[in-house]
Amino acid sequence: MKVSCVRCSAPASSVLVYAYAAREAWLVDLVADPPGTGYPLCEGHARRIVPPVGWVLHDRRRPEPPLFRDVA
Ligand SMILES: [Zn+2]
Repeated sequence: MKVSCVRCSAPASSVLVYAYAAREAWLVDLVADPPGTGYPLCEGHARRIVPPVGWVLHDRRRPEPPLFRDVA
């Protein structure tokens, strides 16, 4: 299944996941079956994401795209 960016509907490459109570956010690679819920983002929007004031953003994306991808 194709996942689209929530901002511009381009193909998503990562997912933004929030922990509201801890004021933390994680940017992770889009996988076939992501744990929990998140907001899919395209490469451009993921690069420009700015966390709210007082929040910590953890960029956990892989620096290079994997050579092999999961078959959806
Ligand atoms: Zn986008």
